[in-house]
Amino acid sequence: MTQQTQLAALGLFNAKVPRYTSYPTAPHFSTGVQSRQFESWVQAVPEGDSVSLYIHVPFCRRLCWFCACRTQGVSNDDPVVSYIGTLKQELSQMAALLPAGVTLSRLHWGGGSPSILPPDQITELAGHIADLIPFAKDAEFSVEIDPNEVDDARLDAFAAAGMNRSSIGIQDFDPEIQKVIGREQSFELTREVVNKLRARGIYSLNADILFGLPFQDTASIVDTTEKLLSFEPDRVALYGYAHVPWMAKRQALIPEDKLPSSIERLGLYNTSRALFLKAGYNAIGIDHFARPGDGLDVALSEGRLRRNFQGYTDDGCDTLIGIGASAISKFRQGYVQNASATSAYLALVRDGKCSAARGHEFTLEDRLRGRIIEEVMCTFRVDLAAVEKEFASVPVDLRSEMMRVQQKYAPFVTLSGTSLHITPEGQPLTRMIAREFDAYSMDEKGHSLAI
Ligand code: SF4
Repeated sequence: MTQQTQLAALGLFNAKVPRYTSYPTAPHFSTGVQSRQFESWVQAVPEGDSVSLYIHVPFCRRLCWFCACRTQGVSNDDPVVSYIGTLKQELSQMAALLPAGVTLSRLHWGGGSPSILPPDQITELAGHIADLIPFAKDAEFSVEIDPNEVDDARLDAFAAAGMNRSSIGIQDFDPEIQKVIGREQSFELTREVVNKLRARGIYSLNADILFGLPFQDTASIVDTTEKLLSFEPDRVALYGYAHVPWMAKRQALIPEDKLPSSIERLGLYNTSRALFLKAGYNAIGIDHFARPGDGLDVALSEGRLRRNFQGYTDDGCDTLIGIGASAISKFRQGYVQNASATSAYLALVRDGKCSAARGHEFTLEDRLRGRIIEEVMCTFRVDLAAVEKEFASVPVDLRSEMMRVQQKYAPFVTLSGTSLHITPEGQPLTRMIAREFDAYSMDEKGHSLAI
């Protein structure tokens, strides 16, 4: 049997499974966790600890058809400026609960398109955050930049505010593919924005491209990957396009009959991956690549690589606080998500209330399974003895589970002593193998293809 036939026999090309950026995954959050937990969990952050902050800006100038992000199109700045006022209010409410001496280790602005904020709003929001929670030494401030929606004044404002890492979504550089996914963004414009960022001292660059888009073939993914490599990004994410038009209505505009098959998706992924490796990048988890010495690469080699809502991270903080509509926070105790609809979020915060709408409080078994799934997703291996030692009081028969998984996915999973390992050839199965350790039921409709 060829490797592809073996992977097919295990169901790789049909399976729909979570991406496991959290455990349990967001569909399992409930309204049993709301403001009471959010407020007490913020108050329980240890004095003098470092936290990370995610700021969500749910607005874009145009709505790209491929994108499943929760965001709304705006033609002028009024709703954006008004939203920023409410964000500042939410930040003040939250910071008033934080114990003394807490510092900010990571600040990330995402969305949506934070780069559509007017320059004075960028300055005000960043200043407000810095006044409330001082930056820790070596803090990282990253922003998602849409090259179509950023100008010199905005870039100046971001640089002056202390932004030191930018994240640029590219998807694909082929103009025809860009047209059918509703996102036109030329290579020349993207290169110009990268140069402008670097001219302002912002050298750290993340970039995302997608495989599995309509009309993509080997030649187009090679061209896009090579063009991206010419920017010399520190980190790259090579994400599979998730076609879920029943959840993201805009995707109904994508020509389904032109999407590559699952087998072709694997070929596109392998082609691009090989080019990143050849260019000297190291593979990080299932879909990231980093230059040697980059924070992600160092975290992987030191066993500190983590997974959060933004994918892989070297952020060691135990607390990530999400601010803005639909933003998710992670605490030692569990997850909390703000009201998803922007109107509901605005009404709650403007009324002086906490906008937490749902979440999940961890059980001990959640922690154990979350640890196993994070290790599988980050390192393709789990040390059973270490997990058993840490969670000795949890009545779960891990050894039987590991043996069942090894037998089901042989020869792509091996069990040596107390260590379960996914072989390099089996890595496309990683999300499916992680799913084996997930104790919650799953509706396939809510998830994307495993590859
Ligand atoms: S890809 Fe970016 S600009 Fe396009 S709709 Fe999604 S968040 Fe907005």
